[in-house]
Amino acid sequence: MIIVLKADMEIDAPEVERLVELAESYPGVRTELHQIQGATRSLSELYLLGSTGVIPTEPFEEFSCVERVVRITEKFRSIGRHGGGLEAVGFEYNGIHIAQDTFHVFPGLCAVDNRENLEAMFRLLREHGIQTARAGAYKPRTSPYDFQGLGAECLPFVFESAGKNDIRIISMEVTHESHVDEILEALRIAGNPTGVMIQIGTRNAQNFELLKSVGQQTELPVLFKRGMGITLEESLNACEYVASGGNRRIVFCLRGMKTNLGDPHRNFVDFAHVPVVKRLTRLPVCIDPSHSVGSRAVAPDGLLDVFHVTAQGVIAGANMVLVDFHPKPGEALCDGPQALLVEELARFLEDAKIVREAYEARLRRVAISSTG
Ligand code: PEP
Ligand code: MN
Repeated sequence: MIIVLKADMEIDAPEVERLVELAESYPGVRTELHQIQGATRSLSELYLLGSTGVIPTEPFEEFSCVERVVRITEKFRSIGRHGGGLEAVGFEYNGIHIAQDTFHVFPGLCAVDNRENLEAMFRLLREHGIQTARAGAYKPRTSPYDFQGLGAECLPFVFESAGKNDIRIISMEVTHESHVDEILEALRIAGNPTGVMIQIGTRNAQNFELLKSVGQQTELPVLFKRGMGITLEESLNACEYVASGGNRRIVFCLRGMKTNLGDPHRNFVDFAHVPVVKRLTRLPVCIDPSHSVGSRAVAPDGLLDVFHVTAQGVIAGANMVLVDFHPKPGEALCDGPQALLVEELARFLEDAKIVREAYEARLRRVAISSTG
């Protein structure tokens, strides 16, 4: 059971103490108090854990500090909406607000290969007014003989160049918990010129020890990528490992599913699940069209498949787009064939904007029909 306290309620208020006492007076029940810092207000929630099935909600609803009492209906209790009883709160990180109603594009290198290409990439993003990017330093590759990423060695120049180009958040995958420490240390040494969103790749979606460790740190938000060969339910439970560690600043990313039925795309595009994840969880939802499609194939109408699948996710309300972009894809050491070219980036951003506006127009129609 989750008891939502009224907005901006002080958690050490005597009434909250009495609420906790009442909850813990039921046999086999313990409590956890969580504060979620949303973009505009903080939200406090009291979790009742243990045998709560038989506890009535009424005695709790009578407290004036209580806004709502919600019964847990999903196993993924911290990220779940539980039948709509809990609102999506989102978060603010390094000046960027990410929530179920915001929209940001994160273009960039799948893997950092050299300083020159990285700087060219950030400069181009800056020219387009983009403050959010991707840049991979630690790459989980299918073959041990393929380029594994430059690792900690590239972090100083990545962060310095990001700062110079006013990049506020870089999405960066980690494959081991020590990478988080290396990133935090490099950010600190550089004077925190930018921010990092820790990316958990699809191959590590059920690496529970890694999920626990990124969940136990709360400095950096987490982009959790859906497992490519497991059910959505299993991915949501895996994502809960991050939230249950204490870190609630999480974005859930769809990136396609591994099945030959998706051929000729690299993965079967699953962006129809954008509204599903928004309904089931409180998390903002990201789409990754590059790792879904895996090529720069062009449809007969002249638009790249990557543009088309992005449109499918954005028209359905995606909050973030992670897309591979490389100033010289021929020099890329990982996933060059799927990276957008310089001349494609501007068109991609424009296309995504058109679709986002169409989504917002659709929302206005819903608002009119529900009030009128
Ligand atoms: C990536 O985004 O660089 C990546 C490896 O993606 P995924 O984990 O979705 O394959
Ligand atoms: Mn890649």
